[in-house]
Amino acid sequence: MTNFKTLDDLGDIRGKVALVRVDLNLPMKDGRVTDDTRVRAAVPTILELADAGAKVLLLAHFGRPKGERVSTQSLSMVVETVRNVLGREVMFIPEIAGPVVAQAIGILGEGGIGILENTRFWKGEEKNDPDLAKAIAANADFYVNDAFSAAHRAHATTEGLAHVLPAYAGRAMQAELEALEKALGKPAKPVAAVVGGAKVSSKLDVLKHLVTKVDHLIIGGGMANTFLAARGVDVGKSLCEHDLASTAEEILTAADAAGCTVHLPYDVVVAREFAPNPPSVRTCNVHEVAADEMILDIGPAATEALADVLKTCRTLVWNGPLGAFETPPFDTATVSLARTAAALTGEGSLVSVAGGGDTVAALNQARVGDQFSYVSTAGGAFLEWMEGKDLPGVVALQR
Ligand code: ADP
Ligand code: MG
Repeated sequence: MTNFKTLDDLGDIRGKVALVRVDLNLPMKDGRVTDDTRVRAAVPTILELADAGAKVLLLAHFGRPKGERVSTQSLSMVVETVRNVLGREVMFIPEIAGPVVAQAIGILGEGGIGILENTRFWKGEEKNDPDLAKAIAANADFYVNDAFSAAHRAHATTEGLAHVLPAYAGRAMQAELEALEKALGKPAKPVAAVVGGAKVSSKLDVLKHLVTKVDHLIIGGGMANTFLAARGVDVGKSLCEHDLASTAEEILTAADAAGCTVHLPYDVVVAREFAPNPPSVRTCNVHEVAADEMILDIGPAATEALADVLKTCRTLVWNGPLGAFETPPFDTATVSLARTAAALTGEGSLVSVAGGGDTVAALNQARVGDQFSYVSTAGGAFLEWMEGKDLPGVVALQR
């Protein structure tokens, strides 16, 4: 995964035109940007190129306009935010190809920065139309992809452009690929994976891939219930996919064959009602769950045993909370194990990589989001990578 060109491979780029694919699909409310994390991730690449004298044209999609110009989804709405985060002047260019872009490039000085219009206003973007890629490329000298979060899609500006221009990974893309390589590509062993979250069905491919890759597979969250039920445990009213019992068995058999130890909880936290600090909350052995109870977190004995497992490991990859962490006290196991992982990372004995929307929120709730080796905010692309899939946007950079 690591044989791609980076900004270090660029020669003199003074006055050259760079097309930089970034993630500007920013969360908005009432026409205002509510979180600029994605812009901040792109800052190092943008400023490095601008400071080397390139004319930097940012390419990004926003929402799902499906090949039509939709004024409420124009990237003009994020210009102000990008300007503020960069602390530089930023020009908005209402096209992605053609004479309007050429004219704007003529106006931009060396080191100038422009944002092109929402790439999904053009039907050829999601179709990965080579003619669209060529038209966009016609105005530029090279292409930089800094949007790992869009790399699982083969679109004109995430994949196609890499075939028609010299292509480089931006700094954020480079950091993500290097972290992922350390976690599952060529990891230091033993390797542990934590997989949690609500449902087995949404992470079947992740589980199937991980059993062939890791030494310890730790299963928590609602999906642990499906595995426990498959093993004959009565999980009461817990969230559980009973129809996936045989699939769960197959995964356990595959793990066995691959020499991967699967860790299921042997104690759990249950309650009769799903509410903050319900009076009925109690801890019990998995074999003691009553018919009217729900498993909402893994128990303290299981959590302690898992901490001991992590202490023997050199690498950890984590996706999915161990319990219903949004509702106290069902965040206890997730917070505790996250803090153990953070401490081991701090001591230098563990490389820890985590990803997933709710996982990132849970790590931040545990106040250790910045103490893992790497936390991916890429969502879909991160999960596809955990499934062992090749990401088209990454593969294209390697050619
Ligand atoms: P991510 O976004 O990190 O990939 P998921 O979306 O797969 O994670 O899962 C997160 C959700 O799983 C959370 O909303 C959490 O409340 C829920 N969850 C975890 N454990 C349980 C459980 N035992 N019962 C019900 N829901 C659970
Ligand atoms: Mg989620």
